[in-house]
Amino acid sequence: MTVDFAGIKVDNVTLAKAIKKLEEFVAAGTPHLIVTPNPEMIVGSQDDAMLKQILNNADLRLPDGISMVVVSRILGKPLKERVSGIDFLLEATKDKKYKIFLLGSAEDVVKKAAEKLGAAGYHHGYFKEDQAVISEIKKVRPDILFAGLGGGRQEKWLAKYLKELNVPVCMGVGGSLDVVSGIKKRAPVWIQKLYIEWLYRLIMEPWRWKRQLALPKFLWYSFTRWKRRSKI
Ligand code: UDP
Repeated sequence: MTVDFAGIKVDNVTLAKAIKKLEEFVAAGTPHLIVTPNPEMIVGSQDDAMLKQILNNADLRLPDGISMVVVSRILGKPLKERVSGIDFLLEATKDKKYKIFLLGSAEDVVKKAAEKLGAAGYHHGYFKEDQAVISEIKKVRPDILFAGLGGGRQEKWLAKYLKELNVPVCMGVGGSLDVVSGIKKRAPVWIQKLYIEWLYRLIMEPWRWKRQLALPKFLWYSFTRWKRRSKI
């Protein structure tokens, strides 16, 4: 089942179900794309037809925002839970069952993250030559490629090279590699439970305030663009 937010479809899955899907994708062996639409991406995709198409056509679309859960309840199509990219990444790599490749962040950051997760390969996210990076990834032949190049850009990069990379699962993880490496702290669980992780990020990274305007815009679009879109 999917839930629609201003024209972006999100799969109504739990973390456990998403991990099951991951298993199926890896077993199938053909390339799959996993995306994590959050309010910022949903707002960004309103004026970005390419991003919208990529998000809607991905093989799995995880609801990465507690505000999405709240809005879905108000709109009468409740999401089961928030499944964030970082929670999915940590769960998928927990028992080191899969061969993974990390792409993104600064060299020392991704190196640290790769050590922590036992990755088979890694590359920083400030490259100019796509092809050189692609051949490095292909050499490793990972089961999963986690790309943290920034929301929107990483999805476009992965979608563009999905077939060429031929990795069973490609997924955009935003700033997760910074958190895994330990250079950035995630909000404590009690703050996450109070639904105020956005406030924590605003205090810790005040320069992000402009990006956080996405939240009220997301609420506005979700309510005003809901009915019209769901009739299509
Ligand atoms: N990043 C990168 N290459 C770039 C720009 C950004 O690897 O050219 C990385 C950056 O180091 C950070 C990540 O992209 O780790 C995600 O940034 P963002 O703040 O967009 O995270 P999100 O809000 O999407 O979680």
